[in-house]
Amino acid sequence: MKEDTELGRKVKGYVEKGLLVPDDIVIEVLKQRLNKIPRRKGFILDGYPRNLEQAKVLEEIAKIDVILLQMVPDWIIIERLSTRRICKNCGAVYNIRFLKPKVDNICDKCGGPLYQRSDDNPEVIKKRIQVYQEQTSPLLRHYKEKKVPFIVSSITALETQPETVLEEMIKELKRLKLA
Ligand SMILES: [Zn+2]
Repeated sequence: MKEDTELGRKVKGYVEKGLLVPDDIVIEVLKQRLNKIPRRKGFILDGYPRNLEQAKVLEEIAKIDVILLQMVPDWIIIERLSTRRICKNCGAVYNIRFLKPKVDNICDKCGGPLYQRSDDNPEVIKKRIQVYQEQTSPLLRHYKEKKVPFIVSSITALETQPETVLEEMIKELKRLKLA
């Protein structure tokens, strides 16, 4: 989207309406991206696959070593996403309640302007959560049946710091010899 490619513009049309990007487009994005990763390096897919169909295609092109599952109550998701701000220039993520920039609406790292994503408003967020429940949550059972290991982080407080969750995840990844 940022590079304003033809594929990126297609994706943008869906994202701005709070709709999921159709499978064939996502798979195209993913294939192009995975091809750029050096052979012996691993990768993390953030928020993908989102449905069983995608999971099955993914299994044909990559091996999944572990599932990183973050359990977050709806009210925390709504609160945190609707206060999220992103740098237009470098993509750094801020939050006007928990991770404020030093100067309002200005990126600490590059001085770029901060903006709110058009799908980060409570109505669209609720729609995204509903789509997750219907289409994505069945994946948990799918991967359990496939015996893929899970690392589960339960987030119960609004102000939980990303570093805290990250440290726990890395500890578990090391235990599984994946980090
Ligand atoms: Zn920036």
